[in-house]
Amino acid sequence: MDHLRNHVAAMPERRYCDTHGEYQSHHLIGSVWSKCRKCEEERRASELQAEADRTVKAIREKQQARLGQAAIPKRFIGRTFDNFEAVTPNQRAALTLPVSTPSSSTSMQQPVRG
Ligand SMILES: [Zn+2]
Repeated sequence: MDHLRNHVAAMPERRYCDTHGEYQSHHLIGSVWSKCRKCEEERRASELQAEADRTVKAIREKQQARLGQAAIPKRFIGRTFDNFEAVTPNQRAALTLPVSTPSSSTSMQQPVRG
């Protein structure tokens, strides 16, 4: 078991990162050694950045949704009864219009085709 103990107590090694050059690798466990710290930091930073971007995007979308809602006249926000009332006159007007059957539309709304 002495060789295992030696392995666990391995001293940091100088290793080489393709991106950052030499770095000190620390023995973690078994055959696992720490990777280039700068690479790890960059990876973590990019993850944090991505998460921050997502958060900012979510906040912007919420704000835009709120702004979009603010652009709608108040009477249309959460007041379905008013909304319904606003539609009703149109519906009534539509009902009072001549019924647009083919015969009536040609006689009343369009010049009779010769
Ligand atoms: Zn690196």
